[in-house]
Formats: sequence, structure tokens, C-alpha cells
Amino acid sequence: LAKERGNNFCFYSSNLNGISIRKMELENGLRKALEQGQLMLYYQPQVSILTREIVGIEALIRWHHPEHGFIAPSEFIPLVEETGLIVPIGKWVVTEACKQRKAWENAGYRDFPIAVNVSVRQFEDEQFIEYILEVLDETGLAANQLELEITESIMQNPENSMIILNQLKDLGVLLSIDDFGTGYSSLSYLKHLPIDKIKIDKSFVDDILYDANQGVMVKTIIDMGLNLNFTVIAEGIETDEQLSFLKKNGCRIGQGYLFSKPIPTEQMDEFLLYTNRK
Ligand code: C2E
Ligand code: CA
Ligand code: CA
Ligand code: CA
Repeated sequence: LAKERGNNFCFYSSNLNGISIRKMELENGLRKALEQGQLMLYYQPQVSILTREIVGIEALIRWHHPEHGFIAPSEFIPLVEETGLIVPIGKWVVTEACKQRKAWENAGYRDFPIAVNVSVRQFEDEQFIEYILEVLDETGLAANQLELEITESIMQNPENSMIILNQLKDLGVLLSIDDFGTGYSSLSYLKHLPIDKIKIDKSFVDDILYDANQGVMVKTIIDMGLNLNFTVIAEGIETDEQLSFLKKNGCRIGQGYLFSKPIPTEQMDEFLLYTNRK
């Protein structure tokens, strides 16, 4: 590494510990990845539990590194959230997802929104809403075909978040709360949020069959969500047993390896052809 970067690097390295060097490397790599087209989106279907039709698709970022192969988002999203690089990367994700959604629309499949993950840092960026508008305008995608997945952590700054959420709602995009149930915020805020959907976190789904308390929790979340008129989706479904528990307790949409892992565009095309032809 020192050789690659020359004397310049050696000079600075004396002031840095090992961790920040690795972070710097990773961040530089990601800047390059963004410029050189090494980032891509994989897609995971959200499926109607009753009909198996695709009722939504979540876009999940992948980094195809020229030497190290595929790198999972858990390896780099936390870092880019810290450095702020998530803002340009997040823009790329929204643009790419909307373009792909439009392509599926042009191919004539039945309607479904495309969901993208939005970090707090992105969400609070001043130009975020403007950017969303711009992308919808440029791609010609209807606002209600784009869904933004945010986490409860936005409620650390409730007043500001409420303003942003309402502005997004006014645009007509769909809003969902990701990893629902894992945040530390109280439930009392929930009914005031202009959201459309809650996603029951995988950690709850994992244990529904073995842990009676988890089962009760999931059942309670489903009931509450439906009573508040939210769409309720369970994530991380891996087995038929989990699916039947969810179905029995009123959950109507699921996402997880049982239906499909996240897959590249071409494979999703085949999936849609099979399930969503008009
Ligand atoms: P998430 O949004 O909660 O996404 C669900 C994660 O669980 C995905 O991991 C998905 O591949 C995985 N998953 C789905 N179904 C199953 C299942 O049945 N079993 C198991 N074991 N795993 C399942 P992935 O793609 O590695 O993404 C991890 C996290 O990285 C995401 O969690 C999200 O928080 C973040 N992320 C991914 N793409 C983006 C992005 O474009 N922007 C931002 N800000 N964050 C992203
Ligand atoms: Ca998500
Ligand atoms: Ca999630
Ligand atoms: Ca997550």
C-alpha cells in the first residue's frame, strides 16, 4: 500500500492509526466505484402471500470490486454514512432504481412500487427532496411507484423529520419504516407519521416459531399496523412454517429467501414474466 501511494502516503500515515487507513482506502475505493460504475443494484421481490404476485421490489446495493468480487452493503454503508459519501451514492441508487422501474413499466408488467433504502444522512440532506423530484421528472416515473424505506432512527430529530416526511408525502412517494420494532422510539409517534407501510424486522420473524414471546410480538405488530391502516410486510421469511404463522396472523405481504434472494436485473425480468404479466 505504501509503495502504491508513494512517499506522500508514508508521510501522512505516521499520523493515522490502522483503522483510519483502512477507512481511507475503503472510502477512496468507493469514490472510484461510483465514478467507474462498480456499484450495482440487486432486486428482491415483495410478494403477496395469498397470490404470490410481486407487489413491490426492494433495490439493494452491491459493490462489484474488480479484485475482491462482490462486497455486501453491511461492509461499506456504515462507513459512507459516517463520511457523507452516502449522499452521492444514495442519489445514484435512487436514479438507477427509478430508471429500472420505468424499464419494467415499459415492459408492461402490472404496477408495483420500487423501494430504496434511505439513510438518515441522506434524508436530512437539504437537496434530498429536490433531487427526488428531479429524478421522477427525468425518468417520467409516477411518484407512487417509488417507495422510500427509512428507519425509526429519523425520530431522533422528530420535528425536522416530520417536516421532511410531510413534504415527501405531498410529492406522492410512498414511505415505509424499515426494521420496524428494532428502534428505540416510542410507539406513540407512529400514528402521527404520514407513512404507508411498516416492515417487520427479520429478527422477529427468525424466532416466531420457537419463542412464544416473539410470536406474540409479531402478532401484535401486525394487528396494530393494520388497525392504523398501514400496509404490513414481514421481512426475512425463510421457511414455510414462518410463512404460515404470518399468514394465519393476518400478514399479507412477505419478503425473504423463501420467495427469492436479491437477484440481478435479468433474473428479476424472468421472475416478473412469470408472476406479473398483464
Ligand atoms: P435491509 O434494508 O434491512 O435489507 C434486508 C437485508 O436482508 C438485505 O441484506 C437482504 O439481502 C437480506 N435478506 C432478505 N431476505 C432475507 C432472508 O430471508 N434471510 C436472510 N438471512 N437475509 C435476508 P443486504 O442486501 O446485504 O443489505 C443489508 C443492509 O444494507 C440493508 O438492510 C440496508 O440497511 C443496507 N442497504 C442496502 N442497500 C442500500 C442502499 O442502497 N442504501 C442504503 N442507505 N442502505 C442500503
Ligand atoms: Ca430495507
Ligand atoms: Ca429491513
Ligand atoms: Ca436493516
